[in-house]
Amino acid sequence: MIFIKTDEEIEIQRESSLLVGKTLAEVAKLIEPGVKTITLDMVAEQFIRDHKAEPGFKGYGGFPGTLCVSVNDQVVHGIPGNTILKDGDIVSVDCGVLKNGYYGDSAYTFLVGEVSEKVRNLVTRTKESLYLGIEQAVDGMRIGDIGFAIQSFAEGFGYGIVRELVGHGVGKKLHEKPEVPNYGRRGSGIKLKSGMVIAIEPMINLGVRNVRQEADGWTIRTADGMPSAHFEHTVAVRNGQADILSSFEMIETVLKSLNRL
Ligand code: MG
Ligand code: MG
Repeated sequence: MIFIKTDEEIEIQRESSLLVGKTLAEVAKLIEPGVKTITLDMVAEQFIRDHKAEPGFKGYGGFPGTLCVSVNDQVVHGIPGNTILKDGDIVSVDCGVLKNGYYGDSAYTFLVGEVSEKVRNLVTRTKESLYLGIEQAVDGMRIGDIGFAIQSFAEGFGYGIVRELVGHGVGKKLHEKPEVPNYGRRGSGIKLKSGMVIAIEPMINLGVRNVRQEADGWTIRTADGMPSAHFEHTVAVRNGQADILSSFEMIETVLKSLNRL
């Protein structure tokens, strides 16, 4: 069953989603060579709780962290720990919060110090692909139109699109129907209706699209060890234009102030 949210529900979800953006902006302040990924997680958890919300991922299926922190060839679901970020890394930070009964879910890939041009381009284009997907999230379009927009753009650069993990509906549960793949055929899949709230989250690899899961039961890595980027917004389907409920604005204000964007 795919839920159609009321305007009131969507406003509650906007608040949750914006809190994710604010949390990621706090994390953005700390990302530099030498920081441990567990430090990011502790700061994020405290920030979320200080805003009368709960971390959405902590305890979800047994996941131990507030954030998924995935470095370089880690695609998603990296567990925060003693890993130290170093110059030239990229790091995807994915965050969910539960506030007033509704989830927000968003992710951003950060550059650590000086990153090679090839990898910087991967990150920039993955973010672009997210917005191309979002453009399709309007009433009357189909799920496959979102995937097609992302896939055709990213594959044009020779990148691999991860297929094993997909976007999803989001609301009272972190993962609701429908699935939102980052690949697809134009005009295929379910029809999008105003009031659906979905998380669109392209995971794009510099090399092959194949991934494998680590023995920790969570971390997903690229099969070839090449880096992967990941961006995610929570989006309400609307007539004419999608309404992006999460935001990168606070994150990018921080990055600009630190001369990192
Ligand atoms: Mg997420
Ligand atoms: Mg998600």
